[in-house]
Amino acid sequence: MISTKKIHPSDKMPVFQTWQDELSAVVDNIDELFALLELPAPPKTQPSSKKFPLRVPHAFINKMQKGNPNDPLLLQVLPDTKEALSVQGYSTDPLAENHHNPTKGILHKYDSRVLITVTGSCAIHCRYCFRQHFDYAGNQPNTQQIDEILAYINKNSQINEVILSGGDPLNLSNKRLKLWLDKLSTINHLHTIRLHTRLPVVLPNRIDNELIELLKSQSKSIVLVLHINHPNEIDTSLSDKCHALKAAGITLLNQTVLLKNINDNADTLAQLSHALFAAGILPYYLHILDKVAGAAHFDLPIEQAVAIYWQLLERLSGYLVPKLVQELPNRPFKTPIDIYQFDQMAKNTKSS
Ligand SMILES: *Cc1c(COP(=O)(O)O)cnc(C)c1O
Ligand code: SF4
Repeated sequence: MISTKKIHPSDKMPVFQTWQDELSAVVDNIDELFALLELPAPPKTQPSSKKFPLRVPHAFINKMQKGNPNDPLLLQVLPDTKEALSVQGYSTDPLAENHHNPTKGILHKYDSRVLITVTGSCAIHCRYCFRQHFDYAGNQPNTQQIDEILAYINKNSQINEVILSGGDPLNLSNKRLKLWLDKLSTINHLHTIRLHTRLPVVLPNRIDNELIELLKSQSKSIVLVLHINHPNEIDTSLSDKCHALKAAGITLLNQTVLLKNINDNADTLAQLSHALFAAGILPYYLHILDKVAGAAHFDLPIEQAVAIYWQLLERLSGYLVPKLVQELPNRPFKTPIDIYQFDQMAKNTKSS
């Protein structure tokens, strides 16, 4: 059913007073999404999972190409019947994160840094998300758990960096975020506070002046790791905010997930790196997809990933090449892909 507010296909994005209004107006109805994109009504597919339904903000829809059912941004959010397939090797906890959960709300997998799931919610639901089956409800820390998290960080002095994650940490209000930052700032052995967020990309208005001032006023170094997969996700609404963040002394990095039919070629990834740099963001990681149940149709063979990466290396300045990594259960860091191993394989195949 189309929502009651009549949205003419040629209408521009609705105007919102605050980012919270924009967040509550996310599109969660396929018919509405297709109407906005001037696409014919979608086929009656299986209803998407109630636990991880369609969810996409207007600002992200606005970056999609009208009339294109294969738009690379649309494909990242559109539920697909293939999600229901059970594929061997794809599980609900591909990273064995449930084994690194020393206290509720914390993932401590890598020695020097700890990840806090400060909220379970995201502004957007990316269909390939590796945390789509994670027990967020049980990991949204309450007041007592927040104290336990801080006590844990306090007593583990090898931890020098905290990553606020989720869900999306910028889904928290500035006030809630400030509470976290105030508490973390009292821990001497922390040097850096990092936020893993997709909100600046999918809802740029989240980066309001109050947030910029809050981040600017911190005594610890602040790093924002964005999540952008395709150059079309970068427009002036995002890059203006990025330049403001940079001017406030914040380091901006990006992680990308390698996704079939979305960014699985060197042209797109090279364009992405250049667009990131122009927006003041440096490429950080290019992730091999985590083998999460429901996302197998986004995966590509590792040999193909390496072949694409080889072209990127040939084409881009070194600082524009993200690190190609895979997250494997129980490894003490994200594993760099051994690209020579596969090169040798390619050569052997050619010569045989
Ligand atoms: C990715 C990740 C980190 C951060 O790893 P870096 O290599 O420092 O970016 C930390 N903790 C967990 C659980 C992670 O998944
Ligand atoms: S923004 Fe990140 S955590 Fe949220 S659904 Fe997308 S990939 Fe998952």
